[in-house]
Amino acid sequence: MRHLLVFLLSVLSLIAADNPQPCPFCEIVAGTRPAAVVYRDPTVMAFLSIGPRNPGHVLVIPVQHAENFLTLPPATARELIAVAQRIATAIKRTDLQAEGIQLQMNTGKAAGQTVFHAHLHVIPRFAGEPEPRSEKDRATLAELEPIAAKIRAKLQ
Ligand code: 5GP
Ligand code: ZN
Repeated sequence: MRHLLVFLLSVLSLIAADNPQPCPFCEIVAGTRPAAVVYRDPTVMAFLSIGPRNPGHVLVIPVQHAENFLTLPPATARELIAVAQRIATAIKRTDLQAEGIQLQMNTGKAAGQTVFHAHLHVIPRFAGEPEPRSEKDRATLAELEPIAAKIRAKLQ
């Protein structure tokens, strides 16, 4: 019985290796997954998170897939930071009224990384705000798009 179980698990892992899960952020880059896009250049893309901690929660990603911060080419990491700074400035210029901006890059499952395409969170924050709402409370594209438009309008 145990041998059968081990055999079945091996077959399943071989099937999984042949059919890797598509990367959701590569799909956004390719335009096959919709997103409320805030910014794009040949190296960096930014769009709103579908599980926003607060309105205007942006994810800044490398166009070229890299699993996380550790495998990100240093020059690309610098580009991400530069774009994140411009987006944070744009967010502050909108009427979202962010009091602070939090930058966060979860690296590895143990650190809370759930999407394994490197991304830098740019999160509007407010004094004394309650604990984050669950990421399960998904926002719709119709809710996100007007917020993305506000940030795009203030980008310099
Ligand atoms: P992590 O936990 O990996 O640091 O953050 C993943 C982020 O990606 C979360 O903010 C989550 O809501 C967001 N996210 C996951 N899947 C998608 C998606 O398909 N589209 C967008 N726009 N955001 C996503
Ligand atoms: Zn990817």
